[in-house]
Amino acid sequence: MEGVQAKKSFKAGDIIMRQNESGHCAYIIEEGQVEILVEKPDGTSQQVGTRGEGAIIGEMAIVDEAPRTATVKALKDCKMLEISREDFSQRLQGTDPVIQMISQVILTRYRDTLTRSDILRESDNYPPPEVIERGYTEQTDVVESIKIANEFKAALENGDLEMHYQPIIDLGKGGVIGFEALMRWTHKEEGFISPGVFIPIAEKSGLIVEATKWATKESCNALKRIETALQRPGELYVSVNFSSHDFAEEDFVENLLKTINDSGIEPKQIKLEITERLLITQPDNAKEKLQACRDAGMGIAIDDFGTGYSSLSYLYYFPIEILKIDQSFIRAMYKEDRSLELVKSIVGLGKNMELSIIAEGVEDIEEARLLQDMGCDNAQGFYFARPMSEENVIKELASWEPAKITA
Ligand code: C2E
Ligand code: CA
Ligand code: CA
Repeated sequence: MEGVQAKKSFKAGDIIMRQNESGHCAYIIEEGQVEILVEKPDGTSQQVGTRGEGAIIGEMAIVDEAPRTATVKALKDCKMLEISREDFSQRLQGTDPVIQMISQVILTRYRDTLTRSDILRESDNYPPPEVIERGYTEQTDVVESIKIANEFKAALENGDLEMHYQPIIDLGKGGVIGFEALMRWTHKEEGFISPGVFIPIAEKSGLIVEATKWATKESCNALKRIETALQRPGELYVSVNFSSHDFAEEDFVENLLKTINDSGIEPKQIKLEITERLLITQPDNAKEKLQACRDAGMGIAIDDFGTGYSSLSYLYYFPIEILKIDQSFIRAMYKEDRSLELVKSIVGLGKNMELSIIAEGVEDIEEARLLQDMGCDNAQGFYFARPMSEENVIKELASWEPAKITA
């Protein structure tokens, strides 16, 4: 995207910015480490923190060119990306006006916090490092989120996103029954960015709705191509992650059905992965839309089951087909009896309620065997296969040997 920042290098010991001098730009630390020093009225200076890779420093220059509130010195050789005020406002343009407004308000409030700490500076108990620490972290997070949201939007528009597919295994026969579709973003400069980072930002900015539409379309079309290549029509399914925002759309179900029909797969070949949060926060809306999806033949899976809310009444209330046991419980099964018992209970609950169970994050054969012994139907995890491109899915499945589970 446009607006690539200038790069700057500093040697260890260089002063990057000096307290009380007016600021013209902020920096993102690409490599290296810096220390933040506050000069006290008696002429001494005190270190109030250090910052490393990925941190933003001097970000108030993005709001105004008021004097720097601290001195920043390179502790190691540093490579930085320089962001000027102009650069930042250019990046903000074209984003949602609400985001623009909120960012401005937050940035200005942050400036006020710093000004208040300037007043404190005159008092005896200065410096109040906790004020500076907290302010810095919050502000860094906001600016960083805005940057990522902008770039994610561009990635979505420019076709820089990709879907990868992780096989879901039938623990009885060891075969692949479907895939979870997972979004991948390879940033032109920064490389792989984890969905754990960009999905929450896409959710907060509302961009997730467009992203999900794209992901669903891409996943349905890919499944059609995969089943055609493998000559297994109608046998496999794809499980797509949805967020609460997606359900706020009036025409959610119609859009989804159109995407499925256009792709040529059957509605039963798509599962909607949702979290308990949706059911708790939008019960009526979720019930109506999920029921319409279920009536059309789609499946509903509860993702990260066990990590959310303790109320199980929703299992009766909503038309759920699958529970996906969160990987934290699978990981802890061997270490803690409580986790083992919890997984056993969920498997039992699934059986009683005629739900299908998928254990997530299975990383070794011991976990797989334990789950198989408990009667867990399905599993997903690095032990069986990692998420992979459509091309690799076709290759892997063409020569798939039933997963080794039994001794
Ligand atoms: P999730 O829905 O719980 O997805 C499973 C995550 O566990 C994936 O991480 C997957 O790569 C990882 N995983 C699978 N097997 C193993 C294993 O054996 N060990 C370990 N340690 N991890 C395993 P990923 O792809 O980084 O995605 C993280 C989260 O981002 C997802 O968690 C989901 O909440 C979100 N996400 C990813 N793609 C999408 C998307 O297209 N839409 C939405 N709304 N969210 C998505
Ligand atoms: Ca999921
Ligand atoms: Ca999950």
